Amino acid sequence: MSAWSKYLLFILILGLVLWGLSFWQKPDSRLHLVFFDVGQGDALFIKSPSGKNILIDGGPDKSVLYGLGEKLPFWQRNLDLVILTHPHADHLIGLIEVLKNYQVKKVASSGVVHTSSEYLKFLELIKEKNIPFQPLHLGDRFDFEDGLSLEVLWPFEVLAGKQVEDLNESSVVLRLSYGDFSALLTGDISKTTEEKLMNNFNFQVNVLKVPHHGSKISLDEEFLKMLACQTAVICVGQNKFGHPAKETLEKLKSLRVLRTDQEGEIEIISDGKDYFIQTQKPH
Ligand SMILES: [Zn+2]
Repeated sequence: MSAWSKYLLFILILGLVLWGLSFWQKPDSRLHLVFFDVGQGDALFIKSPSGKNILIDGGPDKSVLYGLGEKLPFWQRNLDLVILTHPHADHLIGLIEVLKNYQVKKVASSGVVHTSSEYLKFLELIKEKNIPFQPLHLGDRFDFEDGLSLEVLWPFEVLAGKQVEDLNESSVVLRLSYGDFSALLTGDISKTTEEKLMNNFNFQVNVLKVPHHGSKISLDEEFLKMLACQTAVICVGQNKFGHPAKETLEKLKSLRVLRTDQEGEIEIISDGKDYFIQTQKPH
């Protein structure tokens, strides 16, 4: 083979590789809601139908980076939105790694005051990298052009700059909607907050992220009845708190229940009408 044809062959192969790569992880006009398998903690990733990348919580360690690495092509190092539900370590620590490794366009959270060294580090990174920060409370919403919306249902009040008694109850609660599909993302709220939500709203969803890793002080039966969901996802790993509680599992027994400690990563895919579920055990 002449040097010239070798050169042509090289260009051809390079072109094919680049063409192939351009299809890798391309938005597929469907919504992907992924519950990463990060052990005891929450880390939820959303790819919107047009390809916006959103992360809600980062789990207790670096494992969120492996999850993101699988969902995003290797050259893509940016996220459109990162939301922290509340500053407990099992939701926060992975986000510190994410801020170090990804370009984040916006961070949003309740803005509640907390003085753990991890939370201070998180706030410091936001400042250092000049990332716009949006404090969230009832009435705030993110509407994406492709039809995906994230609506903040809780906290009712502005908590930015305020101290609270129980950080779990300060969790940002989000209703995700895309066409006819909806999900409720609940952080670590307990029955107390569920009751307040029930007194103010009446709505149904397809999928519920079970609050607080399936803790027995969460998931009021009336709340569950109101939501009328078919699928419940529990983000849980090895823990000393007895999560998920027997009582919680009992309440969920007529639903499809998916647990990250049993299924691994859980991905819900919707075209805005129906949805289906894919799970992936850890390798
Ligand atoms: Zn938690």
